[in-house]
Amino acid sequence: MDQEKFSAKKSARRSSAKTNEGSKRSKPSAGSQKNLLKAGLYLVATPIGNLQDLSLRGIEILQNVDVIACEDTRVTGKILSRHAIDTAMKAYHEHNAKRARPGLLRIIKAGGAVALVSDAGTPAISDPGFRLVNECILQGLEITAAPGANAAITGLILSGLPTDRFLFAGFLPAKSKQRTQELAGLAEVPATLIFYESAKRLAAALADMAEQLGDRPAAVTRELTKLHEEIRRGSLSELSNHYQETGAPKGEIVIVIGPPLKKAALTEAKLDELIRQALPDNSVRDVAAELARETGVAKRQIYARALELAKK
Ligand code: SAM
Repeated sequence: MDQEKFSAKKSARRSSAKTNEGSKRSKPSAGSQKNLLKAGLYLVATPIGNLQDLSLRGIEILQNVDVIACEDTRVTGKILSRHAIDTAMKAYHEHNAKRARPGLLRIIKAGGAVALVSDAGTPAISDPGFRLVNECILQGLEITAAPGANAAITGLILSGLPTDRFLFAGFLPAKSKQRTQELAGLAEVPATLIFYESAKRLAAALADMAEQLGDRPAAVTRELTKLHEEIRRGSLSELSNHYQETGAPKGEIVIVIGPPLKKAALTEAKLDELIRQALPDNSVRDVAAELARETGVAKRQIYARALELAKK
C-alpha cells in the first residue's frame, strides 16, 4: 500500500466517516467492495485461543480496513480465514517494527485505515504495538479500539484472587538475578500481581516469587480458552514444588499472585522475637528465607532486620 494509492481515497474516506459511525454494514464477500472506514489506526483484539472469541465489530473492522498489521501473517491468517476475511496483511513485529512503522503511518496519513492485531489477544500489550500507537498520537492521527480477549485479564478473573486492584507486570527477565531484583521491587505493591511466563521457566520463576514476595496464594492459569485450559491454585511454594516435580507443562501461561499477606497480626515485636529465636542456629540468609515463607513478610525486609539483630 503506498501513499499515491491512498491519496485518491482520502476525501471519500473523510466524507464517509460520519455516515459510517454506528451504521450497520453487510459482510462483504471475498473480493467485494469494502465499506470505507475513517482514516486511522484500529486496535483490534483477536482470540487468545478459541477462534470464536473475536467481536462482531472486530470482524467488521478487519474486513474493511485497507491493511492489517500483524506479528505473524500465518497466525493472523488462520483467524482471518476462520472468519472469511481476505484483507491484505503486513508484518509488524519486534524485529521489523522500526522499519515497518513509517509505511503504516504513511497509509493512515494518506487517508487509509490500518488495523493492528497481535498474535493473540489485545494488541499493544507485551508487543511492539505501543510504539505505533504512540507515534500516531504524536502525529495527530486517529486511533480507536475494538476491545476483546486478553490473557492477563482472563487469568485474573479465573484465579479467584482479589480483582479490585491489580498490577500487570508483563514478562519478568529470564535470568534469575534480574528476575529477583524486579520481584523485590514489587514486593510491597498492595495489589494482585499478574505476570506472563514461559512454560520452561515456570518452576524457577515461582520459586523466586515465593522467596521475594512471601508465600502468597497464587494461580497458574494455562492454555486459557483452549481445549486443555487449566487453573492450578495454591501457595507460591506449593505451585513451585508441583512444577519442579512434574517438569515444565505445555502451553501458554499467566501467573496471578495475591496481594501481600495481611501483616496486622504480626507486629514488629513479634517478628523480632521470631528472628531472635531462629538466629542462633541459622544464618541470616536462611532465617530471612524461612520466615518469609512462614509469615509472608518480604524476605529482604526480614533480612535487613535480622542483620541488625545479629549485630546486637
Ligand atoms: N497481547 C496478548 C494479550 O492480550 O494477552 C499477550 C501477548 S504476549 C506476547 C503472549 C503471552 O500471553 C504468552 O506468553 C502467555 O504468557 C500469555 N498468553 C497468551 N495467550 C494465552 C492463553 N491462551 N493462556 C494463557 N496465557 C496466554
